[in-house]
Amino acid sequence: MLPPDNHIHTQFSWDTRSRSSMIRACEQAVSAGLPAVAFTEHVDFTAWGERDLPMNDVPEARAKGGIQPLDVEGYSASIQECQERFRDLRILSGIEAGEPHLFSGSVADLLRQATFDRVLGSLHSLPRDGLLVGVGWFLSAESAYDVVRDYCAELLRMVESSDVFEVLAHFDYPRRYWPRGAGTYEDAKVEEEHRSVFRALASSGRVLEINTASPLVSATALRWWYDEGGAAVSFGSDAHTPNRVGDGFEVAMDVAEAAGFRPGRDRFDFWRR
Ligand SMILES: [Zn+2]
Ligand SMILES: [Zn+2]
Repeated sequence: MLPPDNHIHTQFSWDTRSRSSMIRACEQAVSAGLPAVAFTEHVDFTAWGERDLPMNDVPEARAKGGIQPLDVEGYSASIQECQERFRDLRILSGIEAGEPHLFSGSVADLLRQATFDRVLGSLHSLPRDGLLVGVGWFLSAESAYDVVRDYCAELLRMVESSDVFEVLAHFDYPRRYWPRGAGTYEDAKVEEEHRSVFRALASSGRVLEINTASPLVSATALRWWYDEGGAAVSFGSDAHTPNRVGDGFEVAMDVAEAAGFRPGRDRFDFWRR
């Protein structure tokens, strides 16, 4: 029995648009045998709002780079339409909030517009030359492990200073851009940094995501989450096209099991220790 896919993008995400559709993602979920899906659209901001918490050395927030606000009304209508059409699939609403600890006021304003079942917290960017920049743009062979350390330090600040999200998405995001010249990624070099993040997340009772769009987390690294008291894991394909919904879950389930996690209370639940 597959777990829910708790991290999917559709046409309502600014970086997805015509590459996907909520209906086609639901069709794929049904044919893959998934019990539930959560449509977690990107919520990113390019300018500091009044009640945000800007970084001192990042006056302009970030370059626009195609980022668009979420059409909450259109999104909610589409969720409702799919819930009526796909009766045997549990369909949850959601968002993937980017840097929610910095854009705290802006995220809160968005959350007042509708109810979202799943709120993921994501870190995609770190400050570079006065702007927030996606880590993929500056990860180099020489800097690779330093970037992972900086990323973990910012993740820790995010976990400690924002309680708006329930699931920490792709904690291993820099690995998506791992440069060839940096050699094979070695978990052991950044163990303490990850344990610090996991300890803070576990103590706040939240959930760690196993993201199957990233190179799959090792059972060793996931076991750190278990050791630090992590109670639950969420599976997320981070699909930006319908064919990737539920992708890689069989192997991800094996890794979760090897790290000590099992299916939860029912087939819609997170996996738990
Ligand atoms: Zn993301
Ligand atoms: Zn995503």
